[in-house]
Amino acid sequence: MQYEVIIVGGSYAGLSAGLALGRARKRTLIIDAGQRRNRFAHEAHGFLGQDGRAPEAIAAAGRAEVAAYPTVTFLDGTAVSAAQSEDGFVIGMEDGTTHTAARLILATGVTDDLPDLPGLREGWGKGVLHCPYCHGYEVADRRLGVLALVPFAIHQANMLPDWGPTTFFTNGVVALTANERAALERRGVVIEETPVAEVLNAGDGLAGVRMTDGRTIALDALFTGVPTRLTSPLAEQLGCAIDDTLAGPILRVEAMGQTTVPGVYAAGDGHEHDEEPPRRGGERLRCRGDGPPIADPARALSNASGAAPHMAMANFPSLLTWDAVGLKARLKAPPRTL
Ligand SMILES: Cc1cc2nc3c(=O)[nH]c(=O)nc-3n(C[C@H](O)[C@H](O)[C@H](O)COP(=O)(O)OP(=O)(O)OC[C@H]3O[C@@H](n4cnc5c(N)ncnc54)[C@H](O)[C@@H]3O)c2cc1C
Repeated sequence: MQYEVIIVGGSYAGLSAGLALGRARKRTLIIDAGQRRNRFAHEAHGFLGQDGRAPEAIAAAGRAEVAAYPTVTFLDGTAVSAAQSEDGFVIGMEDGTTHTAARLILATGVTDDLPDLPGLREGWGKGVLHCPYCHGYEVADRRLGVLALVPFAIHQANMLPDWGPTTFFTNGVVALTANERAALERRGVVIEETPVAEVLNAGDGLAGVRMTDGRTIALDALFTGVPTRLTSPLAEQLGCAIDDTLAGPILRVEAMGQTTVPGVYAAGDGHEHDEEPPRRGGERLRCRGDGPPIADPARALSNASGAAPHMAMANFPSLLTWDAVGLKARLKAPPRTL
């Protein structure tokens, strides 16, 4: 069957796009492998109307809403190839079947690349948390840590005292300047420069960390921003421009969500608007649990676009991008050649 739109990725962003398309009565196929980024967490926060619900419950409710629209079809599975064709795009599935559509939306998200630090993977989404805006409130005023796995961890270390007493584990990743050290100390952050050897989990919570010198430090939650990569290779196969940021590669899109390949749109975690100002010598820093890329908490709080909730951000671009008028115009426009 020739669809008008294929959405690859049926989590928060893909479902949001699917809802708008279903309501616009577009023949839409949503392909989903079911590996939502926050599947490790028991609760999701900061997503208006859904605060505190289980991620799988939010996704299931979203899917049920979209499934009510008769022009939308769901396919569970992994899309392994994407290519341009005469009529638009052809998507290949793991089992060898193919599906075609005039337009393509990539809502395939990003994957957190966790390093092989003992205990980190086991605690991910439980005692080891990626973002204080999403999960900080629940551990407020307890013993908090920030583990540096990437250089911009210093921003998280500067933010975290808003939630509770903070120890910053520079972990051999961040070399503090005198100014940075002084700024952290003004925020009351304890700086620990011995690398972390192991994360000590305690059931669904955290006991602390063991240092390479054998000491253990008791903690109730450990925050860490990890590098991310695009979950799916489809954008690369299609030739979409991908930008390197401090947090990892992301798809470049224009204001309406279209990638650099006409007819291919992106929604959710894996994309970036090309009009966003570059930071740090041309590199862009996207909020990947790191919060706003600024140290000052007042500015951070006022910077709504830099702060979580990420799921809401996954939602908004699709809703704003796929407004009825613009959507119709774009879907009717003949495919442009590169
Ligand atoms: C541990 C953790 C906890 C979090 N907690 C919160 C929170 O409390 N609040 C909040 O706002 N944000 C939270 N986030 C961030 C949130 O998970 C993401 O912002 C959100 O999931 C992004 O939605 P998305 O639809 O862009 O991508 P995802 O949710 O990652 O979904 C992408 C979907 O695409 C599918 N997919 C990928 N490639 C293919 C393919 N080739 N074929 C078919 N399907 C494919 C995947 O299987 C997946 O279902 C958390 C993140 C983590 C890691």
